[in-house]
Amino acid sequence: MNSLHLKSFIRCKRKAWLDFKGKRSCEVWSPHKAIDKINQFQIFYEFCNGEIYTGLKACKNGYRGVIGLKINEIFFQNINAEIRPQLLVKTKGISKWGPYKYLPAVYKLGHKTTKEHLFDLAFSSLLLGTFQESKIEKGLVISSVGNKVNVEEIYLNKKLRKKVLNVLLSLNECLEGFMPEITQDRKKCTICSWQKFCDKEAKENGYLTDIDGIGSKTASLLKTNGISNTQSLASHNEKKLGEKLSKFNDQKYEKASVFIKQAQAYISGEPYCISNKKDTNDLLEKTCSGFYIFDIESNPDDKHDFLYGFLKINNLFTKNEDLIYEPILNLENNKKESYRQITELLFANKEWPVLHYGETEKIAIINIAKNLNLSFEEIDSLTSRFIDLHTLIRKSWILPLKNYGLKTVSNWLGFEWVQKNVSGSKALYWWIQYQITENEIFLKKIIQYNKDDCLATLQIAKYLIKNQLNKN
Ligand code: SF4
Repeated sequence: MNSLHLKSFIRCKRKAWLDFKGKRSCEVWSPHKAIDKINQFQIFYEFCNGEIYTGLKACKNGYRGVIGLKINEIFFQNINAEIRPQLLVKTKGISKWGPYKYLPAVYKLGHKTTKEHLFDLAFSSLLLGTFQESKIEKGLVISSVGNKVNVEEIYLNKKLRKKVLNVLLSLNECLEGFMPEITQDRKKCTICSWQKFCDKEAKENGYLTDIDGIGSKTASLLKTNGISNTQSLASHNEKKLGEKLSKFNDQKYEKASVFIKQAQAYISGEPYCISNKKDTNDLLEKTCSGFYIFDIESNPDDKHDFLYGFLKINNLFTKNEDLIYEPILNLENNKKESYRQITELLFANKEWPVLHYGETEKIAIINIAKNLNLSFEEIDSLTSRFIDLHTLIRKSWILPLKNYGLKTVSNWLGFEWVQKNVSGSKALYWWIQYQITENEIFLKKIIQYNKDDCLATLQIAKYLIKNQLNKN
């Protein structure tokens, strides 16, 4: 076992097992991991003033920062353990290398120092202490706060070391045993490289957490009431289920009805139409003389939207290849120019609604409008043109899907992205690559991806409009 297994184990036991024993061909490359690695290196580099080297030789030479060192040892209760400290930082002391020693350091994204960071440091300290022949009292958590390096010192006391030893024993037991169950908290799965593999099994076994709106708590409530899978949920009586869902108070019958219909749709593969004439008629009316589709690519950690993509649709029957797509890049040093281009574009067709998927786009426009000092009335009239298709589709349809994300819904409608296995995180990964290399190829990939996001949103708009036309 190694530090990476420990990190996975804290998140999900099954992930640790799969990382150790799973078939590599079932794992999908995760842009999150790659982004994390790049950010991690950049901040470590800054923290060490560029004096960062790799491996054992770097320790012997006494460099300020050391990465890429692996230490293997037969450890406590005969366990074969390996640590891969993210960074070793030189400090005062005496070790086998001379009048200095190293402390382990980890990178933290965001504000919260979690168990993952503490256990990683404690595990590293256990093996590193023996290896360098010098005891380690503390570790460092390094993060970036408002472009500045922030360092937190963590005292690795007896209690923490004991805790990590217990976790390592459980991890060892887990790795030697059978594959653990899929985690109850399926939110963890969204950025996991084994997601596809686990999703397949969850669907085959009728996991309740596959049903949109059912999290781990509701799933266990349903299980204690004798509903253990999607099949039994789908065949349940709405009123009886409502009575069991008292935790939802006034909404209990409404929730019961949605859960059951969602389970029925999921099993049958057939969508269920919720009567929502007003909103969809509205969409039909508002879009008949032209509209925009708007989609943003952003870096949530930096709170930076790096690309605004617009698709102009004069007529719903225009072929996708003939539509005009306008990508507007938002470079840090040229924000005003991109804001100007956006307003110019949006005000060129003042009556046109702006269709988007999710709330991010509207929030971004409000911020841009405020930045440009538009009046309250102007902001109000601009934002009133925004129509969120994610909200609209959820209000109008129960789809045979696990979630209502743009990819899931538009894939179900037959839409395919030109580039395979893409996601918002992959676009962010390309953006980071572009910033490092200035290679235009990454920009082209991002723009193609964003254009496809716009076309996918258009596909959903067409679905809503077409079904409304059929009903009228
Ligand atoms: S996809 Fe979910 S259940 Fe499967 S290993 Fe990852 S986090 Fe665990």
